[in-house]
Amino acid sequence: MYAERLQRTRRRMAELEVDVLLLSVGADLPWLTGYRAMPLERLTMLVVPAEGDVTLVVPRLEAPRVVEHPDLFAVQAWEETDDPIALVAALAGAPRLVAMGERTWAGFLIELQALLPEARWQPGALVTGPLRAVKDAAEVAALRAASAAADRVAAQLQAGDVPLVGRSESEVSADLGRRLLAEGHAGVNFAIVAAGANAASPHHDAGPRVIEAGEIVLCDFGGTMPDGYCSDITRCLHTGEPPSEVRHLYRVLQEAQAAAVETAVVGTPCEDVDAVARRIITEGGYGAHFVHRTGHGIGLDEHEDPYLVGGNCEALVPGHAFSVEPGIYLEGRFGARIEDIVVATDAGPEPLNRVPHGLAVVE
Ligand code: ZN
Ligand code: ZN
Repeated sequence: MYAERLQRTRRRMAELEVDVLLLSVGADLPWLTGYRAMPLERLTMLVVPAEGDVTLVVPRLEAPRVVEHPDLFAVQAWEETDDPIALVAALAGAPRLVAMGERTWAGFLIELQALLPEARWQPGALVTGPLRAVKDAAEVAALRAASAAADRVAAQLQAGDVPLVGRSESEVSADLGRRLLAEGHAGVNFAIVAAGANAASPHHDAGPRVIEAGEIVLCDFGGTMPDGYCSDITRCLHTGEPPSEVRHLYRVLQEAQAAAVETAVVGTPCEDVDAVARRIITEGGYGAHFVHRTGHGIGLDEHEDPYLVGGNCEALVPGHAFSVEPGIYLEGRFGARIEDIVVATDAGPEPLNRVPHGLAVVE
């Protein structure tokens, strides 16, 4: 698997005339090697020249964590008294064009630029983004399992198994996090719980506000599975019967979300999926209140290519995995969002989240 990914990476490097690809923290490195670098002040860097040997430069004390693939890359462990920047620069040779993983700490980039003054620098995602965006069968299976685990937590919410009224948003958020772990995640990435007017802030930080009867509760949560793949789901609940205004807004949103999912067939430009959701929400009278793009790719990163946003005319291909998550936010009053992870397949869009989309009424 990694050999095949390296081959495709090098093909793309050749197309873009990239002389060397440098990867540090972030998901590109585990995607290519299975190894995830710790975000340390000590440099870890994979040096992928256009041709010749690939080298993983890693601090000596981190080296025991590396699962070696001698057929793919050599491991060069550096000692505390070594200069890892000089080591990477030497391995890079005299490149004209460098693609640098953009999660790399800026400090390392600045030092490398001083040692390689002739080079031009491009984001590594130019090379890896389109490759990572198209998931193979094993990756789709991993995303399916991640979504199923998140679904089980969402189902517990919808069944009323997660008490809401009388608890603070942060208590419920911690509860959702524990449930994500219990359902198989290795880590919790976020658990937004936003009640009432707080639901009008798309990325609200769960806080001390106590959830009351008679309000909407927006829950958007996701984590990382042991294999590195991410989940991400949003469902809304209402504590007690929702008033007609909430019902109406939610109906418009649900229609927009479902239509956007249906639009996400192979060959459709990413921006068209966004446009469909936006048109329905605008026709429903809430156009000014849908303040973000419709979705983001997902994989080893929670947010990655492709983005479902106006201006992205890239066509969906089989294996693209992304969220479809329109929202409507009435500032100071309430808001709602519905989010599924969807994979584009030759047989049509496959939603990985299967729990009901309606506004679940809980006590
Ligand atoms: Zn989300
Ligand atoms: Zn999302």
